[in-house]
Amino acid sequence: METIDHFIGGQGVEGGSGRFADVYNPALGEPCARVALASKEDVDAAVAAAAAAFPAWSATPPLARARVLFKYLQLCQQHTDEFAAMVVREHGKTFLDAQGEVARGIEVVEFAVGIPQMLKGEFTDQIARGIDAWSMRQPLGVVAGITPFNFPVMVPMWMFPVAIACGNTFVLKPSERDPSPSLLHARLLKEAGLPDGVFNVVQGDKVAVDALLDHPDVEALSFVGSTPIAEYIYARGTASGKRVQALGGAKNHMVVMPDADMEMAVDALIGAAYGSAGERCMAISVAVAVGDAGDKLVSSLAERTAALKIDDGMAPGAEMGPVVTSAARQRIEKLIGEGVEQGATLVVDGRGYKVDGRENGFFVGGTLFDHVQPSMSIYKEEIFGPVLCVVRMPDVGSALELINANEYGNGVAVFTRDGGVAREFVRQVQVGMVGVNVPLPVPMAFNSFGGWKRSLFGDHHAYGPEGVRFYTRHKAVMQRWPNTASSGVEFAFPQMK
Ligand code: NAD
Repeated sequence: METIDHFIGGQGVEGGSGRFADVYNPALGEPCARVALASKEDVDAAVAAAAAAFPAWSATPPLARARVLFKYLQLCQQHTDEFAAMVVREHGKTFLDAQGEVARGIEVVEFAVGIPQMLKGEFTDQIARGIDAWSMRQPLGVVAGITPFNFPVMVPMWMFPVAIACGNTFVLKPSERDPSPSLLHARLLKEAGLPDGVFNVVQGDKVAVDALLDHPDVEALSFVGSTPIAEYIYARGTASGKRVQALGGAKNHMVVMPDADMEMAVDALIGAAYGSAGERCMAISVAVAVGDAGDKLVSSLAERTAALKIDDGMAPGAEMGPVVTSAARQRIEKLIGEGVEQGATLVVDGRGYKVDGRENGFFVGGTLFDHVQPSMSIYKEEIFGPVLCVVRMPDVGSALELINANEYGNGVAVFTRDGGVAREFVRQVQVGMVGVNVPLPVPMAFNSFGGWKRSLFGDHHAYGPEGVRFYTRHKAVMQRWPNTASSGVEFAFPQMK
């Protein structure tokens, strides 16, 4: 069986821990490779390679750095299907969805090639007699990224193209569930002309993450994953003086007002709840039906949920694949059971779903609950599976109260024809990314991505202008040349005359 190794200093490295984990093909329910799990020493080697590469890379003109990324961008376009096939094999989502993931990642590279424009500082002539001032942004040094299983191509691309464009060097610790795309990124970056050591990959688990968190030469950490781990990363990383952005989990609501275009709302909910088997941090997992919207909504959703085409992600026409692991399936099915026990109405039950020819695959059918209450575990927990909960609310005010009381604040949507309702909703909702008649308002690469509350720990959102700020430090400079007359010794704070 293939072993997926580390990539350090421009080459594949076996690592010395002797520890491995199985990587599964979730549609088949069997291992397709094994991945090395780094030791602290492996992480030290990757950070040392990145630190050694930093002086030359940070001194490389931004335009020259951008040209390497331009070449990498072209290579990513050429290798889209190879990336997508890897994602299907190790994650399980459909091939079309995986191609979309690659495309959204490529958009961040398209943004990052504009780095010379973004690193321009501001210059002020003559702030005092004979003195000019300007600002500049400089890279941090070695920065690390720790990424989740659900977007193994795109989420690392939220981080390293911007970090590298800014002049940093990078160590990626991808998810151990679907590690292969990380090595294709490494190979294509090298082929694009990226100097050895600028981009490194350590495969692994908590051991590798903790080694990165504690390493004195890692200046900053970007994390995307579940909330408990995000909180841990933020606390431990900042305690050791690092800059940290840690994006966590979500429970995203979509409010359907009685005046909404019902067909549009149902289409949106089906795609946003069941696309990628619900394993998206922007997936809609709660539909909030306002007033008399509930009955119409639930009857259409029931029909469409039961008719979902669930199959191996490579099968033509598949709308949804399996979930990532057998443990994930068990957890999701247990939560469905709790929903029933706690009194929600199970309208469509996806437990025990079997796909012909893929009997061992980790499939869960589309599941729909009605009359869900905020006290139930299916409402409170991030299920991260193909389970949609309908909560009924009398008016938009109570829908907003419900959403604002939720511990998460990643994404939200409102479906209505009333501009006034939409405007107030956008202003009052305590959530980082808001859609009006758009179910998954994932910002484009030239904006920035991030949630509020327990969906993000730290001050910066990911990629876009926020990414540039995260991966650089601001420096303010004042300059005077001795051809102007000296103003003599000044003991008091200077005042403008
Ligand atoms: P996860 O938190 O289990 O793992 C994320 C990363 O942390 C992996 O690289 C993993 O190896 C590492 N990790 C896991 N346990 C650890 C521990 N105890 N100590 C140190 N490191 C540890 O998340 P996941 O299951 O891979 O991904 C799904 C989660 O990610 C969901 O909660 C989802 O909402 C979230 N997510 C959030 C966003 C966002 O932008 N907010 C985007 C994608 C996914």
